[in-house]
Amino acid sequence: MTGRLYYDEPHLTRFSARVVEQLEWDGQPAVVLDRTAFYPTGGGQPHDTGSLDGVQVQEVVERAEDGAVVHILTAPLEAEQVEAEVDWQRRFDLMQQHTGQHILSAASVAHLGANTVGFHLADDYATIDLDQAPLTAAALAEVEALANDVVFEDRPVVARFVPDEEVPSLALRKPLAHEGPVRIVEIPGFDTSACGGTHVGSTGAVGLIKITRSERRGDETRVEFLCGRRALYDYQAKNTLLMDLAREYTVAHWQVGEMVHRLADELKEVRRALRVTRDALLDAQASALWHEAVLMEPARVVRAHLPEGSPEDLKHLAQRLVSRPGTVALLAAGGTGEEKGYFVFARSDDLRFHMGNLLRQACEVVGGGGGGRPEFAQGGGPAGAPVAEGLDVAFQALVESIS
Ligand SMILES: [Zn+2]
Repeated sequence: MTGRLYYDEPHLTRFSARVVEQLEWDGQPAVVLDRTAFYPTGGGQPHDTGSLDGVQVQEVVERAEDGAVVHILTAPLEAEQVEAEVDWQRRFDLMQQHTGQHILSAASVAHLGANTVGFHLADDYATIDLDQAPLTAAALAEVEALANDVVFEDRPVVARFVPDEEVPSLALRKPLAHEGPVRIVEIPGFDTSACGGTHVGSTGAVGLIKITRSERRGDETRVEFLCGRRALYDYQAKNTLLMDLAREYTVAHWQVGEMVHRLADELKEVRRALRVTRDALLDAQASALWHEAVLMEPARVVRAHLPEGSPEDLKHLAQRLVSRPGTVALLAAGGTGEEKGYFVFARSDDLRFHMGNLLRQACEVVGGGGGGRPEFAQGGGPAGAPVAEGLDVAFQALVESIS
C-alpha cells in the first residue's frame, strides 16, 4: 500500500518517491509510487493535481483492490525515481473548503441538532445536506455566525490515527462508515470526526465560511457554501456587480434593490399605457381601413399590406375588422428586405367564404405555408416574400367566388 505523506504533512508539496508500478488506467499512462503526497479522490474531497518529473498528474485515484494510490499522467514516465510536486493552490483551496465543511456541519449539530447526511465538494462550489427541512434563513444565518466564531477563534485542527481500544470512547459527530484503522480530525472542544482528508492546521486558515444558498429537498436542506479564497472571489464579484449597478443608476449601493423594484413598477405601468395606446391606434387603423374597403356585395373587402406590421398587429386588426358584419379582411405584413412575410385572412360570421382556401393560394405565391378555418386563417413566407402579389391572387380568387 502506498505511504500517504499528506496524513501527517498536509502542507508538504515537494517530495521524492520511487516508482513501484507502471500501468495503464482507462487507456492513460499511470504510476504507483512507494509514497505520495497526492490526495486521491475520496471522502467527498477531489484529488490533487501536480507533476512527477515535470509530467502532469491529471487525476489521482485509490485502487479498490489494494488501496494503492494511482497517479494518472498525461504522458508516460520512464524514471524509477521521481521528483514530485503537488499543485498547492488547488490543494489549499480544497483544504479550506473541507475544513470549513467540518466546522459548518458541527455548527449545524450544535445550533439546530441537524446532521450532515451528504457532502459534495466541486471545483467551484460545495454543499452539505442537512437532515432537517425547512430551515429558515435566520436559522442558517445563526449557524453561519457560530461557524465563523470558531474560525475567528483560530482553534487547532488536529488529525491522528487512534488505537483500536480508544475508538469506543470517541464522541464522533457521525458513526464510522467502514472498518480498519480510524483517523480522526479534531477541533478540540467543538468537533471530532473520522476523516481521511486533508485539512488546514487551524480554523483561522479557513478564512471565512459563507452560506450562499439553501434549498429544501424533501426532508432535507441542501446548503451551498464557500470558504476562504472562494468566499473572497464571490464577494469581489458580487461587490463589483452591485457597485456597477449603483454607478450606472446613480444610487447608493444599498438602494439598488429598491431601485429595481421601482423600475419594475414603472415598467408595468408603461406597458399598460402602451397597450392602451396601441389598442386605440389599432381601433383607428381598423376604422380607416374599413372605410377604404372595396364594396363587393354581399361583402366589404379590406385588402391591406402593412410592411412594418407584426403578425400580432395583423391578428388584432383582423379581429376588429370582422367584428363588423359583412366584412372580409385580407391582411399582409413584412415581406420587404430581410423581413419574413405574414398573412392573416378573416371574415365576419355572417359570410360564407373559406379563408383557409384563400390563404393557401396566397401562400403558394410566396413559397410559404399556412392554413386555418373557414372564418380565420394565417400563414406566411420567407424573407422578402412577395406578399403584395399573394394578396392580389387571394383577392382575385375572392372576386371570382363572388361573381
Ligand atoms: Zn475531513
